[in-house]
Amino acid sequence: MDIKNISDLLRNSIGSSKIKTSEEFLLSYSYDATGIKKNPDIVAFPENESDISNILKIASKFKIPVTPRGGGVGYSGGSVPVQGGIVMAFSKMNRILKFDEKNLLIEAEPGVITGRIIDICESRGLFYPPDPASLKNSTIGGNVSENAGGPRCFKYGVTSDYVMAVEGFLMNGEKVKFGSYSIKDVSGYDIKKLIVGSEGTLIVISKIVLKVIPKPESRILIRVEFNSLKAGADFIMKIIRFNLSPSVLEFIDKTSLDAVNKYLRTENERDTKSIVILELDGSSGDVNNKLKSLKRLALESGVNDIKIADNTAEMEELWSIRRNLSPAISNLKPKKINEDIAVPIGKVSDTIEYISGLADEYDMCIVMFGHLGDGNIHTNIMIDPADKRELENSKIILDKIFKYVVSVKGTISGEHGIGLSKKEYLGYQYSKTEIDIFRKIKSVFDPDNLLNPGKIF
Ligand SMILES: Cc1cc2nc3c(=O)[nH]c(=O)nc-3n(C[C@H](O)[C@H](O)[C@H](O)COP(=O)(O)OP(=O)(O)OC[C@H]3O[C@@H](n4cnc5c(N)ncnc54)[C@H](O)[C@@H]3O)c2cc1C
Repeated sequence: MDIKNISDLLRNSIGSSKIKTSEEFLLSYSYDATGIKKNPDIVAFPENESDISNILKIASKFKIPVTPRGGGVGYSGGSVPVQGGIVMAFSKMNRILKFDEKNLLIEAEPGVITGRIIDICESRGLFYPPDPASLKNSTIGGNVSENAGGPRCFKYGVTSDYVMAVEGFLMNGEKVKFGSYSIKDVSGYDIKKLIVGSEGTLIVISKIVLKVIPKPESRILIRVEFNSLKAGADFIMKIIRFNLSPSVLEFIDKTSLDAVNKYLRTENERDTKSIVILELDGSSGDVNNKLKSLKRLALESGVNDIKIADNTAEMEELWSIRRNLSPAISNLKPKKINEDIAVPIGKVSDTIEYISGLADEYDMCIVMFGHLGDGNIHTNIMIDPADKRELENSKIILDKIFKYVVSVKGTISGEHGIGLSKKEYLGYQYSKTEIDIFRKIKSVFDPDNLLNPGKIF
C-alpha cells in the first residue's frame, strides 16, 4: 500500500488534524541536534494512548517504520527517521497527569518539557535533579529514552534513578507497563531499567512515573579558576576523594573559555587555563563546612581565582560561561563533532591529557568540557568539513579516542546514546556475541524491526 493510502487510513483512524504530510512538516521533523537529516513520509501527533495504539497497529500491519520523537534535541540522531515512514511526535501529549505530593511521585505524558517538571517541583519545595543542558527543549520521554544526565547527576544520579514506572505500547499496538509506584520492587525482570536508555527502539512510551525528592535547604555556586589544565582536573579528583559531594561538578578547558570570551567579548584577565564550577547544597551548616574544605583544597591545587554566589543573579553570572559554551564553540568552526565519552574517575586527568596531546599532534581544535565528576568528558572536535585535512584527521582522532576510552574501561557514550552517530563504534565496546544479545532483545519487543529501525546496532 502506498503512503497516500496509509496516511488516509491514519486520518480515518485518529483524525485528520493529527496527521501531516506537507513538505514543511516532513522537513521540520527530519533532523535532531546532530544535523543528520532524513524526511519521514508522515508526521503523526497522537493526543492520547488510543491514538498511539491505532497508529502502531496500522504501521505494523503495513510494515511501515515508526520513529518516536520528543523535543528533537538529541545528540545521536535517535529521532531521525532514517528509513522514512512515520515520525510519532509527542508535542500534543504534554500533560502532567498527577502530582502526588504524598508519595513524592509525578505521572507525566512523554511530551512534557523537562524544565517544566523541574520548575513545578521547585514551586512546591521539591526537587527533580536530572537537568540536561537542553532542558528547555528536551522532553521527559526523550530523557527517559536516552537516560539523560546533566550537571547535577554526579551527586543525584541520572534519569533512570528517578523513573519508577513506564507505560507504553509494543510496535504491534499492545499496551505494556513495567515498574511500580513502590520504592522496592523485585518482581520479575527489571524491564523498566531496560526501557530507560533504549533510544525508542523497544516500546513507544506513553506515560512515565517519576520520583521527586525534597529540595535542599541551601545552595551556593562556586567558580574556581586554575592556570593549568591538569590543576583543574586534579582539583576535581581531590573534591571527589574528600567526599565534598557537590551537586554540580563541571569542568571547562582553555579552548572553551577562549571561545566564550570571544563570543561574549570579554577578556581572560588572569590567563586561566581551566575552570571548575561547583554547586554545594544541603543544610546551611553543612554547606558552610564544605565550602571551608573546598577553599583549602583549591589553595592546595594552586587556585588562580575563586568566586562564590548564593543568590540567583550572582549564580546566573557565574554560570554564564558554562551556559554560553555551546553557541560559543559553534562559532569556532563550521562543524562540531560532539562526543560524550565517559571514563572511570581515576582516568579523567589522563584522558584529558591524551586528547589534548592528539589535538597538538594533529594540529586540530578539540574543545573539552563536561560533567567530570562522573567521568563524562564532552569532547568536541571542531572542523571545517570543506577542509580535507581536518575531515580526515577528525576520523583518525575519533577512532583513537574511542579505542582509548574502551582501553581504560570507559564507555563511548555517557549520556547521549548511540543512535546513528556512534553505531559504527559500538563494536569497540561490545563483542559480536554481546551485540547479538542486544538484537535478540529488540526482536522480542519488535520482531519485524519497525520501531526506530537502523539505530544503535
Ligand atoms: C545544547 C544541548 C545540550 C545537551 N545537554 C545534555 C546534557 O547535559 N545531558 C544529556 O544527557 N543530554 C544532553 N543533550 C542531548 C539531548 O538533549 C538529550 O538526549 C535529550 O534526552 C533528548 O530529548 P528529546 O526530547 O529532544 O528527544 P529526541 O531527540 O526527540 O529523541 C531522543 C530519543 O528518544 C526517543 N523517544 C522520544 N520520545 C519517545 C517516546 N515517547 N517513546 C519512545 N522513545 C522516545 C527517540 O526515538 C530518540 O531515539 C543536549 C543536547 C543539546 C542540543
